[in-house]
Amino acid sequence: MDKVNALIKDMEMKMAQEKIDCPCNLDELKVGVDLGTSNIVIIVLDKDNNPVTGAIESANVVKDGIVVDFIGAINILKRLKQQVEAKLGIELYEAATAIPPGIMSGNIKVISNVVEGAGFKVTKVVDEPEAAASVLNIQEGAVVDIGGGTTGISVMNNGKVAYSVDEATGGTHLTLVVAGNMNLPFTEAEGFKKSKENEKLILPIVRPVIEKMAHITMSNIPKEIKELYLVGGTSCLTGIEQVFEKYTSLRTIKPENPLLVTPIGIAMYAG
Ligand code: ATP
Repeated sequence: MDKVNALIKDMEMKMAQEKIDCPCNLDELKVGVDLGTSNIVIIVLDKDNNPVTGAIESANVVKDGIVVDFIGAINILKRLKQQVEAKLGIELYEAATAIPPGIMSGNIKVISNVVEGAGFKVTKVVDEPEAAASVLNIQEGAVVDIGGGTTGISVMNNGKVAYSVDEATGGTHLTLVVAGNMNLPFTEAEGFKKSKENEKLILPIVRPVIEKMAHITMSNIPKEIKELYLVGGTSCLTGIEQVFEKYTSLRTIKPENPLLVTPIGIAMYAG
């Protein structure tokens, strides 16, 4: 996991930089676009999968893999594309994108249309769990992607996704519980939940929802699974891995910033 953490840290650093001295020519860059329920992310890697740059913006234009605001999604993605291009000093033309598990074919087309609408030619549409698994270098085990709207569970076999399920419990449900408990409006509760200084307070409040996610995970994996890998924004919550480990009795591993794992994996499949 040290290598994965170093890769993510490097990516975070590059994303924070205003200007990037692009080390390679356009043909050698690999671009990944992740359209999520809570965030839209562009990641740029070099041909050897080293971080080059990226950009992220909170968004409410996709719900559980379904684009609910087509024009809004295109506008955000265009904005992120321009930001990344300004940092690199070059225009980007191609990108890979990804779909969550269990999505219907019509919705896959809509996701590609958003990416094309923002000015990219879509070169590949990958499964989100497969993208995450290639960053984590997992051969066996289960990837648990806890996003905003859903928890996706993917069982890996020889580095390939054997099967995936996506269940409608995610970070939004944690925020709703915090909102109710602290008597806060949803947006304030969202900020409260993510704030580092509240981390000790949050876990006991949201523990039952996390246990439900762990229960959903256990109900969807075979007995042979020995390890769980947590990714997705909700996995950023401090201590979530301990709740999973205690509930499931399975070794539970999470990278330092689980939010960027899938987006980096998508870019790895580009080019
Ligand atoms: P989905 O996979 O459901 O389509 P998504 O891909 O947009 O959603 P992510 O970006 O992986 O989801 O995660 C978004 C969720 O992560 C939100 O509910 C957000 O509140 C939560 N989140 C992000 N950072 C943190 C943090 N530091 N602590 C707790 N939760 C966090």
